Amino acid sequence: MSIKAPKGTKDILPDEIVNWQFIVQKANEVFNKYNLKEIRTPIFEDTNLFERGVGDTTDIVNKEMYTFLKSDRSLTLRPENTAGVVRAYIEHNMYRESPPLKFWYFGPMFRYERPQAGRQRQFHQIGVELFGVQDASIDAECIMIAVEFLKSIGLDNLTVELNSIGCNTCRTEFKEQLKKKISPFLNELCDDCKSRYEKNPLRILDCKNENCNRLFEENNLKENLSSIKLCPECSTHYEKLKNYLNELNIKYVENPFLVRGLDYYTKTVFEIKSESLGSQNAVCGGGRYDNLVETLGGPHTPAVGWAMGVERLNALIPQENEALIDFYVVSDNQKEAVKLTAKLRKMGFSAEFDYNTRKFSKQLEKASKIANYAVILGEDELKSGYYTVKNLKNTFQQKMTFEQLITIII
Ligand SMILES: [Zn+2]
Ligand SMILES: [Zn+2]
Repeated sequence: MSIKAPKGTKDILPDEIVNWQFIVQKANEVFNKYNLKEIRTPIFEDTNLFERGVGDTTDIVNKEMYTFLKSDRSLTLRPENTAGVVRAYIEHNMYRESPPLKFWYFGPMFRYERPQAGRQRQFHQIGVELFGVQDASIDAECIMIAVEFLKSIGLDNLTVELNSIGCNTCRTEFKEQLKKKISPFLNELCDDCKSRYEKNPLRILDCKNENCNRLFEENNLKENLSSIKLCPECSTHYEKLKNYLNELNIKYVENPFLVRGLDYYTKTVFEIKSESLGSQNAVCGGGRYDNLVETLGGPHTPAVGWAMGVERLNALIPQENEALIDFYVVSDNQKEAVKLTAKLRKMGFSAEFDYNTRKFSKQLEKASKIANYAVILGEDELKSGYYTVKNLKNTFQQKMTFEQLITIII
């Protein structure tokens, strides 16, 4: 039996890679404007990093990690990349540099989930992490970067949903209130919610279980909750952020129940939805994580970031066509074809020829699929020193010198 790619993984073939390259190129362009630097951290890390960094009440850590032992050391394929970037930030003493330090990353992440449309076990994320600034101007910039990047790849009708989940102090009362409202029907909730109830009740609002969501609605949970009462510091920060967003002309809607699925967020949390393809799709999630650097053993460092799933972005943008090469050399003289192809490549053009010296008709057929122009080098051409150049889009052909030939591609 032939071997297939494991369930939940996917080959990205040449005709699909064009979109991937487009997305990463746009990311690069936009992130450069904001002075973000790319960072590449290992695909696997100490399991401990994610347990401490992502949080042991999250589904990610409890159910979805690919963890393995090597020489008695527990390692995990990264399920997300914030923890890894923070680990690198601490390990290389980057907190000693003058802030802000701004990073972006792109790469595969791994989560053992049930594969479904747009959700793979090996998937890719683009993300940014901005370290060292307490002021809300960096939260606004963080959101601005995401919006500008999404627009640059053609996603429109973006909605930024915004909330502040405050600090531990402001959340205490909200958690108690939430627990009180939930306790009458706690027994009917899923097992996850039951364990969240003690460990991290906020997470209950994030439950994806249909039965739980039905119970929330039947009991008017959200209607009965007043939003998190922010302490003066968190409240000022949130007001400042909204002012900055207004200044930057970034429209947002406040969603007091947006809590995000990770343990490390403090104050600002946000999601960006896109209305491409008729339905609303969450394409970006992020927030502030002022305690994570400290939790992972570094000095207290405020930070904010976001991540986007690239598979999802890909599904929302039109499929770009594979780029054609400039020239395809059609010849029955292998030596001359090799020479001309090399000469064209040396001048910076993309060029190919037929390595198997098939019939001209076969060579032209291949050329018309992959190239803009065919350069025909037959016996006549070799004798006369001219090249017959065929425009493969309109099949117009003419004889020209090498000097003329290399000017037809602008
Ligand atoms: Zn607070
Ligand atoms: Zn639940």
